[in-house]
Amino acid sequence: MIKENISEIQQRIAAACQRCGRDPKDVTLIAVSKTKPAEAVREAILCGMADFGENKVQEMCDKMEVIHAPVRWHLIGHLQTNKVKYIVDKAYLIHSVDSLHLAEKIQEEAQKKQTDVNILIQVNVANEATKFGLSTEEAPEIIRSISKLPNIHIQGLMTIAPFSETGEENRQFFRKLKQLSVDIAAKNIDNVTMSVLSMGMSHDFETAIEEGATHVRIGTSIFGERNYNI
Ligand SMILES: *Cc1c(COP(=O)(O)O)cnc(C)c1O
Repeated sequence: MIKENISEIQQRIAAACQRCGRDPKDVTLIAVSKTKPAEAVREAILCGMADFGENKVQEMCDKMEVIHAPVRWHLIGHLQTNKVKYIVDKAYLIHSVDSLHLAEKIQEEAQKKQTDVNILIQVNVANEATKFGLSTEEAPEIIRSISKLPNIHIQGLMTIAPFSETGEENRQFFRKLKQLSVDIAAKNIDNVTMSVLSMGMSHDFETAIEEGATHVRIGTSIFGERNYNI
């Protein structure tokens, strides 16, 4: 089933790219394997997947220990400062940096381990009270402060849009994140690039691609519904 799902998603990504004149190679599909067993990850690897997303540090570390294939692990969930030390040299990209305080902790741990860390700044474009992320207003200033931390490299922005059945309602939020990334890129801040735009999930990834997503994070449509009770 995972195989068919991945192939269907890839076709839909290609179709979305065609609609807006983009190259599918410029869109990375991140398979979000949270709550799913390592076996499911292995199956996805056999289907060619090389990027995986986890939202919990512990779960990500557990899977990394048993999966030896050279895949890229993306931390997409909220990161607590006391967990930074476990992943700072392991995550390929941390999508969820949402404060200077957290960035400073990442810097501290990165320096200890003498490693560099690639991050995205999480922006709460829809201003949802239940979601983490900086507001679009505060993001530029905090990005400027984080850019001064030598072991951290800001690669772009990430957002989690509100739940929606169709995606069309979220177009405005994706457009807003893209505009913010263009505005920030124009500032030419040292040590900051805006090459990554991580937006779009199972329900809205096609709209996100039309609005410029470079990374889509897809769980349910690849691995099936999640059961949080087991
Ligand atoms: C779970 C999760 C996803 C994947 O969501 P689906 O709707 O299952 O595709 C994407 N991004 C983040 C941050 C998540 O926590």
